[in-house]
Amino acid sequence: MTQILIAEDEPRIAAFIDKGLRAQGFTITIAADANTALNLAQANEFDLMILDLGLPGGDGLEVLESLRGQGIQTPVIILTARDDINDKLAGLGGGADDYMTKPFRFEELLARIRLRMKSKSTTNTGDEVMLSVGNIVLNLRTRRAIVENQEIELPSREFILAETFFQHPGQVLTRQQLLDRVWGYDYDPGSNVVDVYVGYLRKS
Ligand code: CA
Repeated sequence: MTQILIAEDEPRIAAFIDKGLRAQGFTITIAADANTALNLAQANEFDLMILDLGLPGGDGLEVLESLRGQGIQTPVIILTARDDINDKLAGLGGGADDYMTKPFRFEELLARIRLRMKSKSTTNTGDEVMLSVGNIVLNLRTRRAIVENQEIELPSREFILAETFFQHPGQVLTRQQLLDRVWGYDYDPGSNVVDVYVGYLRKS
């Protein structure tokens, strides 16, 4: 049974997502403010969290950072009206797995949830899943990179980016291919978000 936590203070939106996801067989818990969302996410093992940023009692980003700071790795999809690139980078940099803006289509949210569930199940099998190119090895289960026998930890977004390069060795990937694979949806191809993340990765 897939358990999803929805942190959303707008009752109409919460009810809309709740109804749609229940119809798909998911088990849903709704939190209407930041504290409840944080407490629920700390106390239960949810398979995924849908997180609004503008919440009563605190910002969704603070909830996310608090969870990640405690080592809670529940996949998080931010769902917000904030569509500024700086908000997106802050959300993804803060450890969100995906970022979606309102207004949104339920089908798209569902597709992104399924994508997260899929990547979770392939990395949680308990088997070591390794990808290697040259003297760099990526462990897909622990989501760590090993470079010349030294293990380094990559933030999730950088890891997926590295994974994407590793799955296409020797190939030149277009910006759009990277956006599709790493961010999982159509993103403004003029955006510099890929350059920013490739920059982070090179520095890691
Ligand atoms: Ca809100």
